[in-house]
Amino acid sequence: MNKDIRKIAVLTSGGDAPGMNAAIRAVVRTGRFYEIEVIGVQLGYDGLIDKQFRVLDARSVANILSRGGTFLKSARSDRFRTQEGRKQAFENIQSEQIDALVVIGGDGSFTGADIFSREHDVPVIGIPGTIDNDLAGTDFTIGFDSACNTAVEAIDKIRDTASSHQRVFFIEVMGRDAGFIAVNAAISGGAGAVIVPEHEWTIEQLIEKLQVAAQNKKSSNLVIVAEGSHLGNAFKIAKKVQKQIDYFDIRVTVLGHLQRGGAPSNLDRVLASRLGVAAVEGLKEGKSKVMVGIINQQLVYTPIHEAIKLEKPLIDEEFRIARILST
Ligand code: ATP
Repeated sequence: MNKDIRKIAVLTSGGDAPGMNAAIRAVVRTGRFYEIEVIGVQLGYDGLIDKQFRVLDARSVANILSRGGTFLKSARSDRFRTQEGRKQAFENIQSEQIDALVVIGGDGSFTGADIFSREHDVPVIGIPGTIDNDLAGTDFTIGFDSACNTAVEAIDKIRDTASSHQRVFFIEVMGRDAGFIAVNAAISGGAGAVIVPEHEWTIEQLIEKLQVAAQNKKSSNLVIVAEGSHLGNAFKIAKKVQKQIDYFDIRVTVLGHLQRGGAPSNLDRVLASRLGVAAVEGLKEGKSKVMVGIINQQLVYTPIHEAIKLEKPLIDEEFRIARILST
């Protein structure tokens, strides 16, 4: 389908990520540039079903570039998982004469978008917005860099107190299925060990690593744990370690939702701006059911079903570097 695109809707879905606002702004401003009307949908797919629409003009996105979160708000919509919910969403899109949809979100949101555009033949383009960086078809997702910066800032502070008291800290970062934040934070934060869902490790190996470090006169240590680590969460791991060696003074910090908030980094603002422009231009060119991403600094449109299906492997080189430098 390559009909004229005169009106598009944009929504944010799933977990929020710093830079989502920058992406919405880019979609709106690019729309205005090409004289395409842009409708903002509140609260993700729920807003599509409940027709929570509002016209976004160029001024309506003023002063949001630097703000974290999403001013359109996000939601997890169970109704959109049903055929009736998606049918209602389609009827609302038709009645408002919306020609295409831009979805900013993660793999779950794209799964929904893919099903929706197959059922109802609505052109859809996805913009990867998730702190987890777990989408193929782009080197980085919007929000990942900012989340890493937040994690590293916190880790630096924990290091001060860890070294003052000669303690071992287990620091849990986000990443249920992917260890991208953990590995990046481990390198930037100078961690002594990193535990991620993608790599098997045993408690015994971890303990050995900590003991060797202590023998090498490392008086404090930081262990970064991705929340989806196969050894369990940071509290569980710390408990298991403490049970076997009582001479370590162990503390646990869970960074949690802190990592989702805050102003987007420069990298995320530029990434979101590029992807927002590319989404609208892609729709104008007749593209649909694709996710826009950047690989090796080049814009790439990947079929959504591939972006969600393909595994994005943890960058082994980074994992290797984290391990080498953690002695
Ligand atoms: P993040 O991983 O960063 O939290 P996400 O986009 O993966 O973001 P999810 O909660 O997995 O977040 O998905 C967001 C929404 O996408 C869901 O609440 C649901 O409305 C829709 N969705 C997910 N999977 C499907 C599906 N199989 N069919 C229809 N809709 C879906």
